[in-house]
Amino acid sequence: MSDILKRTGEAPRRYRIAGSGQVTPVGGHVEDLVSGYVLGALDPAEHDLIERHLRVCSRCDRRVAEERNVIALLPFAAAPATPTLDVKVALLARIAHSQRAAQEAALPVRAVRTLPPAVTLPASRPQATLPPVAASESMQPWLAALPASSRFGRAASYLAVPLLMALIATGAWGMQLRSQVAQQGSQVSTLQQTVANFGTNALSYTLTPTGDSQTQGVFQIGANRREGMLTVQTQGESIDQVFELAGVNSKGELVPMAQLDVKDGSGTTTFPINDLLSDYTQVKVQAKPVATGTDGETVLSGDLNGAISSENPAANSTAP
Ligand SMILES: [Zn+2]
Repeated sequence: MSDILKRTGEAPRRYRIAGSGQVTPVGGHVEDLVSGYVLGALDPAEHDLIERHLRVCSRCDRRVAEERNVIALLPFAAAPATPTLDVKVALLARIAHSQRAAQEAALPVRAVRTLPPAVTLPASRPQATLPPVAASESMQPWLAALPASSRFGRAASYLAVPLLMALIATGAWGMQLRSQVAQQGSQVSTLQQTVANFGTNALSYTLTPTGDSQTQGVFQIGANRREGMLTVQTQGESIDQVFELAGVNSKGELVPMAQLDVKDGSGTTTFPINDLLSDYTQVKVQAKPVATGTDGETVLSGDLNGAISSENPAANSTAP
């Protein structure tokens, strides 16, 4: 009966046109119909069948979600086009038509509503010089005085201004969305790289609080041994605080590595790490002093135990 019934895993994918009367049997998947379903291009019988199937099949439901995401991005795939002259003329005509219709619809309301007499201050201009007539009425003698071609030009320019503004607004909006999409795309790929780098084969050091510090922290070295990550959690008074991470080299000197802003009790930052890391015996986290010129208080420290060697960084892939 249906080609979908016969379709197996290794059979070539077949695409069918909606509305051909074929109905997917119960138990088969509806992947071929998903695009048509999402675009609303199926006939009612097929549409109902898919809806019934989606209630019981998470696999096809996922496909629908994927297709929806793709279709939502379609407007951004098209290059922006400049409308041709006849499109502009048709738009102008529609705007003029809808403005006339709106005016006609508003007329009875105007007739019913009477404005209260205006209060005229003694020093102001007598009201008689400005007869309170509707805008369209006051325009007519002025328009009639103009030659026909100029009248059209004026009318067109009145219409063109809102049209132009609308075109500029939608154009700017489209560009804004495009840049947002591009930005989010690059943010997602950066995030994916970070997750990949710190997900597996990362070295992780739980830092030890110094003194009575209530700060907790973890220092990590990414799988590529080229990127570090510091995560700090604070409690009590210092939930908003700036910290500095430094490496302690073999001479006991502090070498700054990164700065971290902790907001609302937690913060994470990633930073490039250099070859000197093999030289470091320890890392320290200091609370950045409020007053300049004073030393920061060390709140966290951790021994690196020579886990990193610059000659063969990847060999040291087990965290202590
Ligand atoms: Zn299915």
